[in-house]
Amino acid sequence: MRYINERKIEDLLAAAAKVDGAKIEAILEKSRALKRLTLEESAALLTVEEPRDLEKIFTAASWVKDKIYGKRIVLFAPLYISNLCVNGCLYCAFKRDNPLIQRKTLTLAEISEQVEWLLKRGHKRILLVAAELASSCQAIDYYVEAIKTIYRTRFGPHYIRRVNINCAPLSVEGFKRLKAAGIGTYQLFQETYHEKTYRDVHPAGPKSDPDNRLEAIDRAFSAGIDDVGIGVLYGLYDYKFETLALLMHIEHLEERFGVGPHTISVPRIEPALGAELSQNIPYPVSDLDFKKIVAVLRLSVPYTGMILSTRERPALRDELVNLGISQISAESRTSPGGYTENNSQNLEEAQFSLSDQRNLEEIIAALLDKGLIPSFCAACYRKERTGETFMNLAKPGLIKEKCSVNALITLKEYLDDFASSKVKESGYRLIDEIRPTLSPQDQQILKNYFASIDQGARDKYI
Ligand code: SAM
Repeated sequence: MRYINERKIEDLLAAAAKVDGAKIEAILEKSRALKRLTLEESAALLTVEEPRDLEKIFTAASWVKDKIYGKRIVLFAPLYISNLCVNGCLYCAFKRDNPLIQRKTLTLAEISEQVEWLLKRGHKRILLVAAELASSCQAIDYYVEAIKTIYRTRFGPHYIRRVNINCAPLSVEGFKRLKAAGIGTYQLFQETYHEKTYRDVHPAGPKSDPDNRLEAIDRAFSAGIDDVGIGVLYGLYDYKFETLALLMHIEHLEERFGVGPHTISVPRIEPALGAELSQNIPYPVSDLDFKKIVAVLRLSVPYTGMILSTRERPALRDELVNLGISQISAESRTSPGGYTENNSQNLEEAQFSLSDQRNLEEIIAALLDKGLIPSFCAACYRKERTGETFMNLAKPGLIKEKCSVNALITLKEYLDDFASSKVKESGYRLIDEIRPTLSPQDQQILKNYFASIDQGARDKYI
């Protein structure tokens, strides 16, 4: 795979195994100064097994997380619009020869119905997800219409404020059309950066070409989409190799475009109907190693957002938000039309099964209990704080102020409009606790915005 030097990764990991506790301490010191780590340093942290040193990594990661992002956790819902697929990914229920899956491509009216369901619960951010259609031209037309439909759908005064997308690689022209339609982040996971494994688990369809997938992120940047999301599907190959390779991919993007990805996703393989590899995971990642991955990524690229999905269990998700995760999905369904189908996950149409089945309000309540601010903020994108502009604020830790104010504004809107009395109570209490910790200027801004929300204004942000 271009940009990924497997030999170098293996050499780095072999050398890292000899690193001692003093060196680990020095690396953590550098992290606490919010400096990005080198591949050598990340490799050293990834090979730590000693419980005491691991604890130090976790403590440092949660400190850095708080410094850069503060207490807010951004919430979103995935919206699966089609499970029709030309690929043969061995781990995925959507693979083309899977007879156990009912195929479905939502009409625009059905998409609107799904969005309305999400709006009624208080969602403001959607990740559009689609399997790969046979014709990429038709796919682009469909995505563009779907995006427009999502933005157009209303429930009273409520509408979706940011649509991100996870779809198969497109040409530069295709990406330009997505950008013109108003997408926020373009998200694409390499799945595995290990070439042999990649070729083995993607035997058929356009996805079988690893370089086309890797270079899609470059094409998205070239098309002017400057918020991109990358990721690894953990479980396909050795997690240490994958994490270093992902960081190598980031180095390439930083070198070529002056900026890395906006977000990193860390999905772990979940059981999927008719996809045998998902039931016999080749390189299972334990919960402890998974925590280490999240913490090491947080320390390696302190200013890059990190996304966790409902593939993970509630208790683990609640821990990982402290270790570095900045965005989580909530109340997800991975089947097209899944939100309105008896309110449950339809396994015959779903991509994989989910571990966190809590509804949005339950997830919000759990975040509030931990003193975290659930946020529906979409301000950066709309204020053109994307790509390098965002990173220039994030790197010195300045984005946090804006995040906190915007998170509190969106939390108040949510509480006023959607929350039960119990959640209202804990939400308003958290707002009262956090307000005095803001700068006097931000407190004033918040006071003015809260007054206008009380007057009925919505969708306020700085
Ligand atoms: N067609 C798009 C593409 O080419 O990437 C979207 C793919 S899929 C709908 C979104 C992501 O789900 C994949 O990139 C993969 O990482 C993840 N995924 C697939 N099967 C999975 C499973 N069994 N467990 C967990 N995640 C899975």
